[in-house]
Amino acid sequence: MKELLFGTGGSPHSSKTQSTIDGIRRVAELGLGCMELEFVYGVRMGEAGARLVAETASQEGVKLSAHGPYYINLNAREPEKVIASQERILQTARIGAICGAESIIFHAAFYLGDPPEKTYSVVKKYRENNGIWVRPEVMGKPTQFGTIDEILNLCAELEGVGIGMDFAHWHARSGEANSYPEFTSVLQQIKQRLGDQALNNMHIHVSGIAYGQKGEKKHLNLQESDFNYVELLRALKDFDAKGLLICESPSLEGDALLLQETYNGL
Ligand SMILES: [Zn+2]
Repeated sequence: MKELLFGTGGSPHSSKTQSTIDGIRRVAELGLGCMELEFVYGVRMGEAGARLVAETASQEGVKLSAHGPYYINLNAREPEKVIASQERILQTARIGAICGAESIIFHAAFYLGDPPEKTYSVVKKYRENNGIWVRPEVMGKPTQFGTIDEILNLCAELEGVGIGMDFAHWHARSGEANSYPEFTSVLQQIKQRLGDQALNNMHIHVSGIAYGQKGEKKHLNLQESDFNYVELLRALKDFDAKGLLICESPSLEGDALLLQETYNGL
């Protein structure tokens, strides 16, 4: 990637309709650079629709990524749930690839009381190579698989696996990770483990976030939260991080534009 692009998780609220095509057009109109396709309640797009999405995105110059369904737990107790989870990831990757998305992002698993190492080895067994970056996300609750270390270990061990770096989740998980030195230490860790190419091809989620003892509660608009987005953007700029930054605040394009303008003003 040549630069850091800013965009929305799903179609902007101000799109003509909430369709993916209108969403992509609106992203371009707003002067944003990317959009995440939200397959969070299931992949309901067919191949013909996906080809149209790819065409529109390339005409409008908008880069895409795809978020997999929420109903994924690679560490589920029931084998049929594990198989269904694997199929959901695969389907996201297949349709995402036809859409021209460069990455898919998903919530990999819950520990369900297992030791994290055990969950790690279960998640690691799932691999699928279809030419799209597969990015397990850094998660916001201590019951969820997805610390930075866990995801970086997967990336280092498996080809085609990258980090879905959700800075809001990481902050909510512990209440920490909300200052310039903490942000740069995350970026430093990514650089050390995966090299410069990882910083040149980042996938980042940002939003305001409410959290408590059990981690993430819900997403908030940036200015209604304690999330220190200015310092995060400064860290990203200082590390020359490139790739897609997807805003998941309730205001979507409002905060995506705020992030882009703030970043450009630094
Ligand atoms: Zn997510």
